[in-house]
Amino acid sequence: MASIELDGVSKRFGETLALHGVDLTVPDGSFFSLLGPSGCGKSTLLKIIAGLEAPTAGQVRIGEVAVEDLRPAERNIAMVFQSYALYPHLTVAQNIALPLAMRRLSRLERLPLLGKTLPAARGKAAGIQAEVEAVARTLEISHLLARRPAQLSGGQKQRVAVGRALVRRPTAFLLDEPLSNLDAQLRVQMREELIEVHRRFGMTFVYVTHDQAEAMAMSDRIAVILDGRVAQCAAPQELYERPATLEIARFVGASSLNVLSVDLTPDGQLASPFRNLAVPSGLGSRRRVVLGFRPEDAQLGDAGTGHLQARTRRVEYHGGSRHLIASAGSGETLRAVIPPEAPSPTAGDVVWLRLQPALALLFDADTEARLEVVPM
Ligand code: ATP
Repeated sequence: MASIELDGVSKRFGETLALHGVDLTVPDGSFFSLLGPSGCGKSTLLKIIAGLEAPTAGQVRIGEVAVEDLRPAERNIAMVFQSYALYPHLTVAQNIALPLAMRRLSRLERLPLLGKTLPAARGKAAGIQAEVEAVARTLEISHLLARRPAQLSGGQKQRVAVGRALVRRPTAFLLDEPLSNLDAQLRVQMREELIEVHRRFGMTFVYVTHDQAEAMAMSDRIAVILDGRVAQCAAPQELYERPATLEIARFVGASSLNVLSVDLTPDGQLASPFRNLAVPSGLGSRRRVVLGFRPEDAQLGDAGTGHLQARTRRVEYHGGSRHLIASAGSGETLRAVIPPEAPSPTAGDVVWLRLQPALALLFDADTEARLEVVPM
């Protein structure tokens, strides 16, 4: 097993600076996600760890060993790509066996794996076959071993790609958006399977995704990558509750963040349209802040206890819950949860929202950095 450390890693492609001095520590045995929008540099970072790209500057250490002089095959790291990269002309068994055959057999000895028999290599080939069968049993694909990739579903291909990576017993496992080709239901199922593989084999996982829900559900730690930089690296709950900036807060969370620019009165209260909402301490002499709150942290209240008035646009039905979509006085769109027992307002109704003050996020109006405040 191995921790992975990146020290000041930068990557330039011609004019494009894809990574800017990335420092990152992936703890040994953790499930670690690189989360960020398209083009932020996630895949480049993963390829640099794997040795498929060389950094322009900086150092990568795997298991405390600097790896710049090690070829990809020498790093004992396995990588699963979005496209799975299975060999179409080989069976599932041959695809999974290939990394072991490349490592243990000479060119001539590899022929048995491709259908011919060579007596001298029978012992080694039988060993490889036993290992392939063991991995296939773990991933429940034993019944598919004789098929070719074209005869498999997306989820089955994904399992074969994972099997081919696992059979090498790598010290770390790198996955680049491995679930993005699957439909929503299968994606949730494969998520569970990958977490199970991680739990069972205990190796370090580095998982690239642009799907925040996936990263939140699976990871021990998440590095949010924005514009080639690590914007924040934290456990999922910390990222959700204490995002470093407004941009990170908008990116992390199941539904979109409500954002309002709010003036503070000279005596430090939230100015209209808020009322009855205690102001936190720690805002200094600011006159304006950005208030962010998640729909799940705001509820439909009443005129007596509500903090903020809004006008109903529509109600979204989500099965287990309903969301109110409303307009604030200043025109911003707001979302809030409608309690199960409350009747649904209709378009045009004026409603009051109640915020959970301790869960509201406050940001500097200029820098958009989150303000450390004593909760309201
Ligand atoms: P996606 O989620 O869309 O795959 P990503 O976050 O993985 O995006 P990268 O593939 O790492 O992003 O790309 C980061 C930046 O580097 C992008 O601007 C991309 O265009 C650029 N880039 C990546 N590979 C190369 C390359 N081989 N040559 C030139 N530019 C590249």
